[in-house]
Amino acid sequence: MTRHSRSAPLAALTPTHTGPVSWQRLLKWLHEDGVISAEESERTAQRCSHAESAQPALERLASVGVARASDGAALDVEELTRFLARRAQLEYLRIDPLKVDAGKVADSMSASYAERHKVLPVQVTAAELVVATSEPFVTDWVAEVERQARRSVRRVVASPAAIRRYTAEFFALARSVRAAQKSGGAAGTASFEQLVELGKSGRQLDANDQGVIQVVDWLWQYAFNQRASDIHLEPRREQGVIRFRIDGVLHPVYQVPPGVMNAITARVKLLGRMDVVERRRPQDGRIKTRNPAGEEVEMRLSTLPTAFGEKLVMRIFDPETAVKDLAQLGFTPHDAERWQALVARPHGIILVTGPTGSGKTTTLYSTLRRVATEEVNVSTIEDPIENIDPRLNQTQVQPQLDFGFAEGVRALMRQDPDIIMIGEIRDLETAEMAVQAALTGHLVFSTLHTNDAPSAFTRLMELGVPSYLLGATMLGVLAQRLVRTLCPQCRQPDEQAGTELLAEAVRPWKINKGNYRPFKAVGCVDCRMTGYRGRMGIYELLAVSDAFRAVVHGDTSIAALRKQAVQDGMHPLRLAGAMRAAEGLTTLAEIIAATPPLQ
Ligand SMILES: [Zn+2]
Repeated sequence: MTRHSRSAPLAALTPTHTGPVSWQRLLKWLHEDGVISAEESERTAQRCSHAESAQPALERLASVGVARASDGAALDVEELTRFLARRAQLEYLRIDPLKVDAGKVADSMSASYAERHKVLPVQVTAAELVVATSEPFVTDWVAEVERQARRSVRRVVASPAAIRRYTAEFFALARSVRAAQKSGGAAGTASFEQLVELGKSGRQLDANDQGVIQVVDWLWQYAFNQRASDIHLEPRREQGVIRFRIDGVLHPVYQVPPGVMNAITARVKLLGRMDVVERRRPQDGRIKTRNPAGEEVEMRLSTLPTAFGEKLVMRIFDPETAVKDLAQLGFTPHDAERWQALVARPHGIILVTGPTGSGKTTTLYSTLRRVATEEVNVSTIEDPIENIDPRLNQTQVQPQLDFGFAEGVRALMRQDPDIIMIGEIRDLETAEMAVQAALTGHLVFSTLHTNDAPSAFTRLMELGVPSYLLGATMLGVLAQRLVRTLCPQCRQPDEQAGTELLAEAVRPWKINKGNYRPFKAVGCVDCRMTGYRGRMGIYELLAVSDAFRAVVHGDTSIAALRKQAVQDGMHPLRLAGAMRAAEGLTTLAEIIAATPPLQ
């Protein structure tokens, strides 16, 4: 009771502050209003003054853990934000994306303006525009926005993280809703919000409900727009979660009530010609649709029963893969030339290696498309067929019918092929079939799970392939990784990524420091605040020479194979990646995370 009567007059007496709130100021206010003790204020000031930081005051204090006087609990960023709002005598807002009409608010301000001033419109009515900020004492933007929007601005206070995240989210969302409407969505489109409301009302939604149809269309356009590779629909106890995988990382994009999630899942299953009633067994399906640019996009669907319902994943196949040339895939001119020479050979084995998700299939498809001319028969045996292409004869393995890779190659060989692609070599039988095919005059492509190119030889020998047969058939091995590329909109020259770091990463090699122009990741609306946009391949290409063949024998070592490969012109993965970082296309951190160290 006493604290209540104490804090109100104090706040009113405080001289009006203007400008950004520093952590020192925020700390002082917290103490003045009795939220924290004098000792805690002192202790926090000590800890914060140790290091300079560009972090907003709210996040700075939340990160060092300031203890509340009443119960000793650490104040989190939302509580600190709520306190700041009270101090500024403004409303605190925890932004709920489901309550915001993204299309409408995005029309009231440009993305770049919102980003520059770190403000986010959250509601538009006839008379006013509600704008969230985490700097309630910075008001220089208000007059301009009022003039532009022809409405009075009402400011509310939200945490800096929420403003950053939803600025990226809402403007991206608004763009794709517009794209979806342009590509044929009916006027008066039911919004996600309306559908969510329906779901809450307990009304039974089904796959053919108009709102469900539109939301599924919209979801796809949104995913294409965001360059997502996968859409995850995940049922949970309270709320279903929709997440997109973008550049290899999952981002939550929406939460929906279970009823809405079920209806969306049912709709997608219906379109994928799956059994909508069956919900206790895993199923797969395929869907073809079009992206905002009008290109055909293919998606592979799979469901899995979980504790709270059916989980559905839609994997999106990038239609651009078809037209990407080697440079777009990330090949350097040095390696592009060597790869082209390899794939022009009439017979032998060419392997692509790397972990799952390293882009092996993309490299193989774009290579096969290049070699698949009218004069040759290109046949594949895959698990599963990822991309259907009219130039290729594609077959899917069916293990339940005892039709695996080895049986598949055996069957293919009777089909008079010139070029064969085997999805993966996992066992001796398949490896032997590949060798057999190469020895009888075919060009064979396949993949293998190894860390680098030289290990492909030792792995095949471990499987039981005699070294002399490898010497007779192997043409080359391409090891690869995918790394995120820096967002061209927001990347900044990186003064700190000194040449020592680079030198350290590529030792014992040397990179010409004169060409070193590193950039760092920053984050903007275009890249969802990640600082990265898109991915590129990093390659290590081993081309088998006569000298290399002499090293391939039963007692060989990886070190000996690697040494000869390097002498023949192979750039190891770490080195190839570091060269990309030196060009400012990606970062050294990204390369170090993705590639094995140099030996
Ligand atoms: Zn960016």
